[in-house]
Amino acid sequence: MVKTIGVVTSGGDAPGMNAAIRAVTRLASALGFRVLGFERGWEGLINNLFRLLTPRSVGGIIQLGGTILLTSRCPEFKTWEGIRKAADNLAADNVDGLVVIGGEGSFRGALELSRETGALIVGVPATIDNDVYGSDETIGFDTAVNTAVAEIDKIRDTAISHERVFVVEVMGRRRGFLAATVGLTVGAEVILVPEVSIDMEEVFRTVKENAAKGKRSGIIVAAEGVGDTRRIAEEIEAKTGAEVRLSIVGYAQRGGSPTARSRLLASLFAEEAVQLIMQGVGNRVVGLQKGLITNISLEETCKNQKTLDTRLLKLAKTLAT
Ligand code: ADP
Repeated sequence: MVKTIGVVTSGGDAPGMNAAIRAVTRLASALGFRVLGFERGWEGLINNLFRLLTPRSVGGIIQLGGTILLTSRCPEFKTWEGIRKAADNLAADNVDGLVVIGGEGSFRGALELSRETGALIVGVPATIDNDVYGSDETIGFDTAVNTAVAEIDKIRDTAISHERVFVVEVMGRRRGFLAATVGLTVGAEVILVPEVSIDMEEVFRTVKENAAKGKRSGIIVAAEGVGDTRRIAEEIEAKTGAEVRLSIVGYAQRGGSPTARSRLLASLFAEEAVQLIMQGVGNRVVGLQKGLITNISLEETCKNQKTLDTRLLKLAKTLAT
């Protein structure tokens, strides 16, 4: 009897999701599994919208950002009826295992679904926010970091020429992993993240001290979740006398061709996910821990919050003196 694996991408898209879809499809197909790609995230499971994925149908997508399966936020999945419909569809389609490629929210949905379905569910962390507990890194994070860094390097050119300070807003409504890594790697003078309350006086002092030291321009990287970045920029200008501009990197961070690193993680995570399902193991989320591919329980991922290592912020501050 042919066994069936389902694949779904859910929540915010991340570059490298396609590389993960490709890897899951090819690994599972090689083992004789039928692979179904559910469309538009949880919506596809609720409405039983899927397409057959074959090694050939996932050709030419490893280098593409976004997700060929499309994705969505699906409020209906937060209801018991929604979950029930999805579970019934999985049973009707004879799905034995489901690979969920997404972030924290998608895994909370997966945990709810796991209570209603017999299918083995394995999560594959993919989000530019890098905020999945149990994995040091998520698919798409490295790409988003590199996209933001490339943008900010350009902004620095004009900052230097015009002797301006730029507040650059990067994505991260709740978490500052992206802002911290981007801030450190562009050499930002100040990094603002949602996890640390902002001391505006300290920001003013840093900008003024830098000017006194002969630093005529500067970059302040702020995660979008820290508040109204336009107001922050205006306040800094008013209190320091520096000429301050705001630049928002925006949705470009979510797209683009995945870096080699994001494709590598996608392939390794997919391999672990397919292996778990082959072994009859479900309710797991794969991840990277200290350089090794690992997996932890879905419950543990959902129960815990990954913490930002604030040493990164300290190091960035020291390096920007
Ligand atoms: P991400 O997976 O990128 O974190 P979201 O937080 O938007 O994205 O979550 C994606 C989807 O997962 C939501 O639109 C919803 O359908 C589902 N989801 C999130 N939280 C829950 C929950 N507690 N119960 C059931 N489904 C959920």
